[in-house]
Amino acid sequence: MTAQGKARKLTLDVLCKYPFLNASMEWIQEKNVIPLDAFYTHVGIMDKIRAILADAMDNKEESKALAHDSDEIIYLYPWLRIILAFMNMPRVTYKIANLLSKHFSAMLAKEDETTLLLVAQDQGINVDRIPDDKAMAISTVSFQFRLPFLDYLQIAAKFKSPAWKLVNRLLKNGSVYLRKQDLARMIEELIKTKISEANPALKDESLKKSFMDDPLLKPFFEGLMNVAKEKTSAGSGSTDSLPVDDSAFPPCINAILDKNSKGINLAHSERLFLVYFLLTIGKTVEEVLDLFRNQPDYNEKISRYQVEFAAGMHGKKTNYKPHNCVTLESINICKKADPEFGSKWCVEPKYPFKNPLTFYRRSSKSRARHLAQNSGTEPSNEDKVEGPSSSQDDGQST
Ligand code: SF4
Repeated sequence: MTAQGKARKLTLDVLCKYPFLNASMEWIQEKNVIPLDAFYTHVGIMDKIRAILADAMDNKEESKALAHDSDEIIYLYPWLRIILAFMNMPRVTYKIANLLSKHFSAMLAKEDETTLLLVAQDQGINVDRIPDDKAMAISTVSFQFRLPFLDYLQIAAKFKSPAWKLVNRLLKNGSVYLRKQDLARMIEELIKTKISEANPALKDESLKKSFMDDPLLKPFFEGLMNVAKEKTSAGSGSTDSLPVDDSAFPPCINAILDKNSKGINLAHSERLFLVYFLLTIGKTVEEVLDLFRNQPDYNEKISRYQVEFAAGMHGKKTNYKPHNCVTLESINICKKADPEFGSKWCVEPKYPFKNPLTFYRRSSKSRARHLAQNSGTEPSNEDKVEGPSSSQDDGQST
């Protein structure tokens, strides 16, 4: 089936699969549906939103509730964003942004190149597919996409991870070359940012009033709030339950990741520290192995055994923790005052800490709040639930 509309090249199947698309929103607008009617004509939406909330609060990175088996999902997506704005709970918004962006990114990485290109262009990425006979290949790695470097800079400026810095990219003749997985990751970052940022629907008081006055939707919303409050208060005081946030890494980790992304051989002590740190904050063995594939001496069998050992899957099944800052300073891994990676949080800590894990926890908690914070015109419902934020999170962002 093909969706009708102005110059649309994406099929309705694709619009259902990726409901965040601008083309999906256009499709809804063409239907002229009264917003609240979506809940009455697509009765499954409420169950799916409940399931997505539960999956997100459990830090899952995919959800069966996002199955694209009908056009219901296209209506669900904007309503999910509007409901998040009504809820005004930044941590919940952040978790849902993480779940959705990871879920769609995993599907995009398996997509054919033509569809991936159309999705990227829909999201405003001015990217080209390189013809097969002109595809750029370095060693065995093939770069199938390129975009003008100024466009790249404009998009990458929104992302904090050092992996997006121009120096870590293949730049040739004014274009940045990307692999398929890079493009999928770029779309993932854009989705996460879009869901996390302020939603104008928050200011649509008349829509909110109609929603809250509706006999079906009021109890539905109250049920969502109860689950969200219960889950956030169960996890308050700790950021262990937050999803992994690559943008919150301490200077010592960013410096090692930067070396790794350039293919520079890491010292044994750097590898150990990186593995212990990443596993402790919740990265999977596969995600850690993926990083090490950049190392010039990468050996799948040896690396897999070592990472699995560090994860407590072999031997005495010990879960190793990363070294303390004092030890890291003594072995020259600490980069607190480094001109490129250093951070005020490490040099002049308002609340001293001993381990990079503490830096990460404070930073990711603070970032989760800032990312999802709306215009600041009203306190978030999390603040109402949990009281004032911990003074330990008052530091500057890195
Ligand atoms: S002070 Fe600690 S967290 Fe900061 S760079 Fe040094 S080792 Fe890393």
